This record gives sequence, C-alpha cells and structure tokens, in this order.
Amino acid sequence: MITIKSPREIETMAAAGRIVADTLALVAAHAKPGVSTGELDELAEDFIRSHPGARPSFKGLYDFPRSLCTSINHEIVHGIPSHSRVLEEGDILSVDCGVCLDGLHADAAITVPIGEVREEVQRLLEVTQRALAAGIRAAVVGNHVGDIGHAIQKVAERAGFSVVRELVGHGIGSSFHEEPQVPNYGKPKRGPRLVRGMTLAIEPMINMGRPEIRTLDDRWTVVTADGSWSAHFEHTVVIEPDGPRLLTVAPATTPA
Ligand code: MG
Ligand code: MG
Repeated sequence: MITIKSPREIETMAAAGRIVADTLALVAAHAKPGVSTGELDELAEDFIRSHPGARPSFKGLYDFPRSLCTSINHEIVHGIPSHSRVLEEGDILSVDCGVCLDGLHADAAITVPIGEVREEVQRLLEVTQRALAAGIRAAVVGNHVGDIGHAIQKVAERAGFSVVRELVGHGIGSSFHEEPQVPNYGKPKRGPRLVRGMTLAIEPMINMGRPEIRTLDDRWTVVTADGSWSAHFEHTVVIEPDGPRLLTVAPATTPA
C-alpha cells in the first residue's frame, strides 16, 4: 500500500531530512585519506543523536550494525563502517544516511571523492548526480514511477555507464522502506501513478562497467560483479502540486 503523508508528517520528514543533510555534510568534510569509515560512523551517530527525538534509521534495521552505510570504490551500497577500513587518496566513498525523527524517516546518500580522483571517476560522480536530478524532475503529479526510472536510465546509459537493477529506490515514511519500489530504469507511463503527498527515496546506483552485482561474505556489502567502480546519490522527495520538493536538504540548499 502506498501511503499519502499529511502536511504535518511532511514537515517532520523535512526536519529529519535536514539532520540527514547536515550529517552528510559533516561526514564529507571529514572524509580524507587516513580516516577510517568507523570514525566517520561514530561522528555521524553522535551528531544525529545530539538532536532531541532523532536516531539513526539504519542501526538495527534488518539487524544492520551501524549508523551509516559506507561503500568504497567497487562497493555499491551497504558497506559496514569499520575502524580497519581506512580511506586512501583517489578513492570514492558512498555515504548513505537515514534519520528517524518522531517516528518518521528521511534517507539520502552522496558519493564523495577522497583527495584527487581519476578523470573518469569524476565523470561517474557527475553523471550519477545528473541522473538523480533527472529522476527528481520526473517526479511530478500525473507521471508514473516508470518515468523516474526512465529519466535516470537515459542519463546514465547515454554517458556509457550502467544502472544497477536489483537495488531500487522506495517509498518512505513511518517505515523506512515502503511501497512503491522506485527502480532506476524503466519505461515512461508504467508503474504506479504519482500523486500529491507521496514521499519517495530516489537513489540511482550507477556502475562504470557492467550492471551485475554480488554480495560479499559479510552478507551486507554489495559490490559490482566486474570490479568496476560505482556511485550512489539519493534524496527523499515529496510530490507536491507544483513539483517535487527535496526533503533531505539543509535550509540554505536550493532544490535541484
Ligand atoms: Mg539511503
Ligand atoms: Mg534509500
């Protein structure tokens, strides 16, 4: 069932989303060569819990042990932060963060370069961000879920990259994962129709090589099957009559 959120619920999700945006900015500022993903996770958890009523959505979700997902290079998503995983110059780090505030969730992700990255890797980051922006622009009343995926897929594949199929965006609200699923590929006018008050986490996962994935023995970390590098960007949005509104932004951020 797709739930439609009330204006009050949407404002609570926006407040959760501001904490998510601030957490991601804090983590990005500290993500440097020599820093471990375990340190970044502790920084994020302390920051999130410093807000009354807020907690990290991920900790304990399906028994996930940490507050962030941190995924490096060919890791796509769901990497487990660890003090033994130290960032190196030239890496890319995907940071995925969810916050629950007063019973409602918000979810966003960024992929940040660690120091200088290769030109092709920089292009992957830019294309994935553009794909997310295109998906968000398609999230308008009267369109369908398939329009979002189609817009994302077009940007990624025109740039010569591939779209992960098995992992998708999702509805979000009082549960972290709600209906509908929001694939990052698809056909226009297919899937559920978008209506006012729907809240969606849109999150392209784009690979430099082939789209196939596999899961590591830790049973969490999802990597590209061919070892190519992958980027992930995500926002939570609400469908409003005059267009999509980003909920996972700091107050000063201009919508995409
Ligand atoms: Mg996420
Ligand atoms: Mg998500």
